[in-house]
Amino acid sequence: MELPSTHTIAVVVREPGCKARFELESVPIPELGPQDVLVQLSVTGVCGTDVALASGELGPTRRILGHEGVGRVVRLGSGLSESQVRLGQRVGVAWQRDICGACAMCLTEGGETRCFEQLNSGRKVDGTFAEYTLVPYRYLTTLPEGPGDEMLAPILCGGVTIYKGLKICGATPGQWIVISGAGGGVGSLGIQFSKAMGYRTIAIDAGKEKEDYCLSLGAEVYIDLTTAADVPLVVREKTGGRGAAAALVTAGSGKAYQDALRMLGPFGRLVCIGIPPPSQLVNFHPLLFIDMGITIIGSAVGTRLDIQEAISFVERGLVRPTVQMTTLDKLSAVSEQITQGKAIGKFVVRFRED
Ligand SMILES: [Zn+2]
Ligand SMILES: [Zn+2]
Repeated sequence: MELPSTHTIAVVVREPGCKARFELESVPIPELGPQDVLVQLSVTGVCGTDVALASGELGPTRRILGHEGVGRVVRLGSGLSESQVRLGQRVGVAWQRDICGACAMCLTEGGETRCFEQLNSGRKVDGTFAEYTLVPYRYLTTLPEGPGDEMLAPILCGGVTIYKGLKICGATPGQWIVISGAGGGVGSLGIQFSKAMGYRTIAIDAGKEKEDYCLSLGAEVYIDLTTAADVPLVVREKTGGRGAAAALVTAGSGKAYQDALRMLGPFGRLVCIGIPPPSQLVNFHPLLFIDMGITIIGSAVGTRLDIQEAISFVERGLVRPTVQMTTLDKLSAVSEQITQGKAIGKFVVRFRED
């Protein structure tokens, strides 16, 4: 396979903070360690977390962000052979790039997404806003052939995150679940997964455009934050007074969490996904939990198995991400649109025209 000599194009963050912008730069193709594979990406999704990382509010980052890459293996480290991974294998490059396999989290079933030593795209290792990236063989996420690259990229972070949240939300098919921030990149995938998993979905977001979008994806009820005076009350009404079996908050807003606590029915589960700014705390009285048997749980992306499960919904045509294709040089404008919360669906960058 032909590779460019030594350099390739990437997008880097300049002036992290409120003035952060993304700029094209020529970067060296990363050098492989013995157990690494070199992946040539064809597309990468753009996630809200990338925008948050660029703003500096989540702490120090690498210059190259991005964590929803889809591509193929083009080179193997000296310690690997094609009996382990073949050249041309389709792979995904997600938020989690490696885990230690030895910490208390890794040793706990399902704990690998919370590994204390985990390497994350754009945090400790360069992300997918570059055409070439390295992945350790031991933590390779292989992808099936079939669905287009742009259909798989959004699943690698946004999709698997909401799929995992639904998987652990404790609801039974036929019960009502609420998705707060339902018109966003994560929430909109959630509506489709939720429907495919047999739940009845109440979508919460702001504005008429999001209403049409959420209902078209399979939400049964839409509640508009800009017009509903008391959102939890509307949820109670729509669920026949019972309340929802689970509420998944993808919105990065303390108010969304506060409201969600009042929407839950008996033994309801609040699943925390969206990350509000540190100043936005949630208040509650313990009696709420004592009386109602409510549980609050956090969900963090998903394991490689969760990714494969989530992708099987795409393969079966049950989940079809709404995507807007873009190119690396437009990343600053794209991130602005994500910040404003107006974007419909997910942005996916294609590295080169076929
Ligand atoms: Zn993400
Ligand atoms: Zn670990």
